[in-house]
Amino acid sequence: MLICSMSRITMKKIIIVAIFTLFSWPYMTSVAEIELPEIGDSAGSVVSPYQEYRIGQSFYWRLQQSVDLIDDPEITDYLSELGERLVANSDAPQLSFKFFMVPDNRVNAFAAPGGFIGVNSGLLLTSHEEDELASVLAHEIAHVTQRHLIRSFERQKQLSLPTTAAMIGALLLGAADPEMGAAAITAVQAGGVQAQLNFTRANEREADNMGMLTLVRSGFNAHAMPTFFERLQQANQFHTGRSIPEFLRSHPVTSSRIADSRGRANTYPLKRQPSDRQKFYLIREKLRVMTTPNLTQLIQYYAGSIEVGSNVNNTATKYGYSLALAAIGNYSQAKSILRELIDNDGERLTYQLALADMELSRGHIKTALAIYEKNQRLYPRDYALTIKQVIALLQAKQSKVATEKLLNQYQLGRQTQKVYKLLAQAYGDMDNNSQAHSWLAEYYYNAGRLKQSVDQLQLAIKFARGDKFQLAKLNSRLREVETQLEELDEAL
Ligand SMILES: [Zn+2]
Repeated sequence: MLICSMSRITMKKIIIVAIFTLFSWPYMTSVAEIELPEIGDSAGSVVSPYQEYRIGQSFYWRLQQSVDLIDDPEITDYLSELGERLVANSDAPQLSFKFFMVPDNRVNAFAAPGGFIGVNSGLLLTSHEEDELASVLAHEIAHVTQRHLIRSFERQKQLSLPTTAAMIGALLLGAADPEMGAAAITAVQAGGVQAQLNFTRANEREADNMGMLTLVRSGFNAHAMPTFFERLQQANQFHTGRSIPEFLRSHPVTSSRIADSRGRANTYPLKRQPSDRQKFYLIREKLRVMTTPNLTQLIQYYAGSIEVGSNVNNTATKYGYSLALAAIGNYSQAKSILRELIDNDGERLTYQLALADMELSRGHIKTALAIYEKNQRLYPRDYALTIKQVIALLQAKQSKVATEKLLNQYQLGRQTQKVYKLLAQAYGDMDNNSQAHSWLAEYYYNAGRLKQSVDQLQLAIKFARGDKFQLAKLNSRLREVETQLEELDEAL
């Protein structure tokens, strides 16, 4: 995979062990024991931040070709906000990160160079507190800011950067989906290279240390990290084989690592900053409803735990119950439960959005639009609210207002697939074909579908006609995407 024009150095078959995120028990002793050889000065093989980004991006593209990432605006927004809060308190607050959620019940998270951090839905569902989820994110952020994966490659002078990119991509894909990863690794090996990466025990320790510091600086409880590790390890004692939590496979947790982590946590006074922790519980139930394989069973569970009052967080359980009922079309009961929650906490946006969703599902566009409008005054910059409002506006044929709201989100830095796709739709509705195709091009580009992106840019140019400014912009973007497409083609 040709990612940059770095000189190709002779590839040797080397045997070390893999990686960052993906890892299985049989390899663990080797990870700890095999030290990577230092091969003199590594100045000649330093990977630039841009190259790092391209490596991460190529992994992110490949991942999206195999998995439909969760794109619910409330869930993705929650994850990004939590991630950004941690990054702001990390040792590299200037780096830009992309957090995304993978619909997979295995407890895992993984980090690619360039700041691409994936979180499995299973990780969020298993976390008891927001602090626990934050502790894993902080650990992953530290792997990126400390450039662990890249540094292990920089020590391997035999490897060219394109090969590196292919390997990192393959190994990270394995973290997201072991079968997919195995296929990708086989493909890399077919190219004559033994896929090798090392993620040492020292790296893990460093990620724990830096991660905990980030966690504390962000106002979370340092003890959440050892607590989460302990719980995973305990759960693991009752399981064998494939039920070992993925996070333990990829980030081996030993008793001494937990003890280290607990000892360090004791040195931080407990100083949790006030924040909206209720949101975590609500988001967790939303995700549970979205990903459950059995809605009927989940509804029975919610109904049962509300009845006996056994649930820790009663309001979140009721919220989940309401969403699950709406999902099977029982709107009257869903709405009456939601009403009860709104009576006690009327300004909570999560409830308002759920109410509007229910109205929209029943075709009550005007009622939904009124709810959005009212809440926009309270939360003018909110991403999830805007996205939902825009979808309703487009249904009501109000494309112009929808476009303005989307462009505003784009300028606020919310450059997401949802924004691109909805902009394409809104401009299409207004018969502005050049803009419609150019936003669709961005949508395809972000999904790693560069050929389709080029096609769309060419169409956008065709429709731009006399608009010189738009033409210049489109032509320059076309050259950029074409160059990347050529690089990818050469790599295959
Ligand atoms: Zn780790």
